Amino acid sequence: MDDVLRKPRLERPDIVRLLGAQGDELQALLDYALATKLKHLDNNVHLRGLVEYSNKCRKSCMYCGLRKQNSKVVRYTVSDEEVLQCARTALELGYGSMAIQSGERTDCEFVDGVERVLRAIKRLSDGKLGITLSCGEQTEEVYRRWFDAGAHRYLLRIESSTRELYYSIHPDTPEHSFERRLECIDTLLGIGYQTGTGVMVGLPGQTLEHLADDLLFFRSKDVAMVGLGPFIPHPDTPLWALRDQIPSKEERIKLTLKMIATLRIMMPEINMVSATANQTLDAFGREKAVMAGANVIMPNLTPQRYREEYLIYPDKACVGDRPEECFHCLDMRMKVVNHNILYNEWGDSVAFIKRQQGKG
Ligand code: SAH
Ligand code: SF4
Repeated sequence: MDDVLRKPRLERPDIVRLLGAQGDELQALLDYALATKLKHLDNNVHLRGLVEYSNKCRKSCMYCGLRKQNSKVVRYTVSDEEVLQCARTALELGYGSMAIQSGERTDCEFVDGVERVLRAIKRLSDGKLGITLSCGEQTEEVYRRWFDAGAHRYLLRIESSTRELYYSIHPDTPEHSFERRLECIDTLLGIGYQTGTGVMVGLPGQTLEHLADDLLFFRSKDVAMVGLGPFIPHPDTPLWALRDQIPSKEERIKLTLKMIATLRIMMPEINMVSATANQTLDAFGREKAVMAGANVIMPNLTPQRYREEYLIYPDKACVGDRPEECFHCLDMRMKVVNHNILYNEWGDSVAFIKRQQGKG
């Protein structure tokens, strides 16, 4: 195991071995990943205040509670003034960045609305707040407009880098094309976004080999950020029917931690988000993810009245917490595991910064 961990470059069989680690070997993997993170990034944690901007969605992903067929969801879009209020809260609490996430929409009202709020946040904060977007697949023109308006990071998970598995969780229609998703990731990289991607862990039919290929995919794209989280079945989605065919809650968390740890060893300087899904399945999921190699957390700033309607998966953690409560809770939780939240900083990906400097 030690020999595998210390290899200068992990290959597919090594990765499969690490993802299958148990007992002492698992502990050795987690220890090595934490040491790698501390060596390259110190014990710093960055925050992104999350605004769940709109739950309207044109897609039918088979795992997600926001899919357009789910008529139980009351659809909303947060107003400009409310987003600005979130930005003020982020500034007051010292969050250096915001993240704006939404269902996938391509209508003009939405595209213009995102552009408008990006400019307004930049103006309001005098450029102090960094902004990550996660608003699905868009045309190159739209991605450029948003980049020019001030977004500098974009998260678009590939969900699974194996075509066949991708189509087992998405309908095989033009709006859900695997090739288009890949193209979008390339477009984002080409525009100059700090580009992030990621997958869900513990999907029906997903093997360790699939997950190893996902990690190799992240490395091949040289992405700046990755978000990994366990799959959580939602009762109003088609994949609910397969909920008996996935690993247990504990197993999904464990596998997610192994993915985070292995990736930290493979890509020591990227930003890695601890998904809210981790803390939904495990009260200490956030801390465990940080100890396994994650270095970014996304506390929720969405106005309270919308939160119950942004249930991508059920029983989402911290839905009732006010921003100030989250602030104190997070600060304390990170201190307990010897980590240090960096306030008032964008917290860009070191991997990305170094690559830019190399180009310059
Ligand atoms: N509409 C955008 C962003 C919002 S969805 C998009 O799809 O890219 C954000 C992420 O939530 C998705 O990428 C997916 O990985 C995750 N997600 C959706 N349903 C989930 C579920 N049931 N369990 C765990 N994660 C889920
Ligand atoms: Fe829409 Fe994103 Fe959910 Fe798919 S994962 S249904 S695109 S919100």
